[in-house]
Amino acid sequence: MERKAIYPGSFDPITNGHVDIIQRGKKIFDKIIVGVLDNPKKSPLFTIEERIQLIKEIFSQDPAVEVMSFSGLLVDFARRNGVNVVIRGLRAISDFEYEFQMALMNRKLAHEMETLFMMPSLKYSFLSSNMVKEVFQLGGCVKDLVPPQVEEALKNKILNSKL
Ligand code: ADP
Repeated sequence: MERKAIYPGSFDPITNGHVDIIQRGKKIFDKIIVGVLDNPKKSPLFTIEERIQLIKEIFSQDPAVEVMSFSGLLVDFARRNGVNVVIRGLRAISDFEYEFQMALMNRKLAHEMETLFMMPSLKYSFLSSNMVKEVFQLGGCVKDLVPPQVEEALKNKILNSKL
């Protein structure tokens, strides 16, 4: 039977830290379903379609990575797809408390759900999508922080918004 896990998040936009976690997850699972949260309340920089398209481009040669959008409860999305493992990335200590609460809440909502935490490479342990957006908007270089497709998309998005 195929071992599957869901890796959920906002991915606004996907960074090398996210890519690192997906690559690590693939060592344990046959399929990683990247679940992109459609939550307009977060007022993302990239639309849900743009975020999904970027991830699809980055993993276009990789049949083990599937990309889907979801809204509502993560456990409902997982159940609809017959998956009971959720992968989350754990960076420097700041992530811990929120992730701990969420993992236990998801288990309460769906007792079969397990959350697997994975640590990225040290060089991505302080990287977040918000940091990338901020640095880029202020003219900093994000080359080593995001895949080239994302750097290009940031250029287009931010240059267009300045026109
Ligand atoms: P969310 O809004 O759900 O936190 P994110 O896209 O920010 O969505 O993050 C999705 C998941 O990826 C979370 O588990 C987060 O901790 C993890 N993550 C984000 N950035 C990194 C990184 N640089 N290294 C490892 N994990 C990361």
